[in-house]
Amino acid sequence: MHDLEIRHRAGRLVRSSIANAEVGRRLNVPLGSVSYWVHMDRAKRGECPGAHNPLCPRCDGRALDEAAYSYLLGLYLGDGHISHYARVPSLMISCDDAWPGLMDAAEAALRSVFPSNATCRVRSKGSHNVKVYSKHLDCFFPQHGTGKKHDRHIALAPWQHDIVEEYPWELIRGLIHSDGCRIINWTEKTVGGVRKRYEYPRYLFANKSDDIRKIHTNTLNAVGVEWSTPARGCDPFNVSVARRASVALMDLQVGPTY
Ligand SMILES: [Zn+2]
Repeated sequence: MHDLEIRHRAGRLVRSSIANAEVGRRLNVPLGSVSYWVHMDRAKRGECPGAHNPLCPRCDGRALDEAAYSYLLGLYLGDGHISHYARVPSLMISCDDAWPGLMDAAEAALRSVFPSNATCRVRSKGSHNVKVYSKHLDCFFPQHGTGKKHDRHIALAPWQHDIVEEYPWELIRGLIHSDGCRIINWTEKTVGGVRKRYEYPRYLFANKSDDIRKIHTNTLNAVGVEWSTPARGCDPFNVSVARRASVALMDLQVGPTY
């Protein structure tokens, strides 16, 4: 936590038109913290674009970027968290600093789904939380509830199901980007007297919620990707894609983590 005095000094510098990055340098605080304070101060004064009840696809029938939504739904089911502690609820997607491209993709999806709401990045240990504030988060994510996702029943609403049917790969990409990975298993064999190394790429998805794994495997079925769960005794929360044709399809559609 930063000293309140530093936060107030940052506010004064920003108001005197000094760039956030310069303020961060002068006070020796991360740019993300300065941006977050500025955002929160503006939100408090009601100066954020769309702070006054922006339209909602569920309540007002405004258009929704359904492809971006499907990806965001995957991120939310994997690693997203909705918090109701502040005056306006926030959705937070936790992004590892090792994958800046994924952080950009998460923020782009938030902007497309919530075009009237400001997004921001908040630094955490080894990661950043990409956040958006909206009074309509529960409209977008009716799966929200108290406690951990794997301790409660998670089912898609019919309208979410329709979107996933239309954009299955976007959901899979979001799930893999948040709770999955592409790994390479390898083995050596002697063929014609020569030692050769063989590599077997596979995709893993790990989530403690049976319901979320089921949503993942149902969607894999829909796009024709073969999957398996590990043998008894291994991590029971994994879904593995290892068949060559299926891995090739995943490489084409999900793309690399970057
Ligand atoms: Zn709404």
